[in-house]
Amino acid sequence: MRKPLIVANWKMYNTVSEASFLVEELIGKIGDISSVEVAIAPPFTALEAVSKILSETDLTLAAQNMYWERAGAFTGEISPVMLRDLTCRFVILGHSERRQFFGDGDGEVALKVEAALAEGLIPILCVGETLGEREYRKTFEVVERQIRGALDGGMPDSGGALIIAYEPIWAIGTGKTASPEAAQEVHCFIRRLLENLLGKGPGGEVRILYGGSVKPDNVRGLMEMQDIDGALVGGASLDAESFTRIVHFK
Ligand code: PEP
Repeated sequence: MRKPLIVANWKMYNTVSEASFLVEELIGKIGDISSVEVAIAPPFTALEAVSKILSETDLTLAAQNMYWERAGAFTGEISPVMLRDLTCRFVILGHSERRQFFGDGDGEVALKVEAALAEGLIPILCVGETLGEREYRKTFEVVERQIRGALDGGMPDSGGALIIAYEPIWAIGTGKTASPEAAQEVHCFIRRLLENLLGKGPGGEVRILYGGSVKPDNVRGLMEMQDIDGALVGGASLDAESFTRIVHFK
């Protein structure tokens, strides 16, 4: 059984006080939930404050990125050790905005995945195709290259130690969502690939999230699909009411 996971990616939004306010509001609105796991990924500057607030709850903490070294002369970077120290359980890696604006390629993502796994952080590995790639029917090829590339440095030792987020780039922040059936087709492909790479048991345990304009009114249809195990939510996670409705998708 794969427990559904809903992750809020706040991107570069919210100061410490705004983040604290929003997370308190979320906790109040979400209430007690045991059937869904919820993680919040604030910007680095708000991790500590959010960590303290979440410590009394079942909600978990995620980071949006990290560097692959444990420590050293790497000005401006954050290490996996630092994220563990702040009680992060997950780290988002290879997000398309990192790939597009900050030069994270498959090689860098592989180093990050390997370092996260070594530190006991669960990578949320983001993959997905551009609109052009979809139109040229390259979706499977792109997603396979990204997943094989990211796992080049080492495989997780269990299915629970890895999360994949399928995020078609044309759906991120655009209001366009893949239909549940179109998303499921790619999730199913990813599942078969993971079963090949990790073995049938572990490959079947990896949670595969969908991301790209997930909203309260489309989440349920997506979550009904066999291989969609949760959502990575950007824009709609910045509003407590919307995010709560997504979490309570059932
Ligand atoms: C994201 O940034 O991972 C994302 C899916 O954003 P949005 O929900 O705004 O499309």
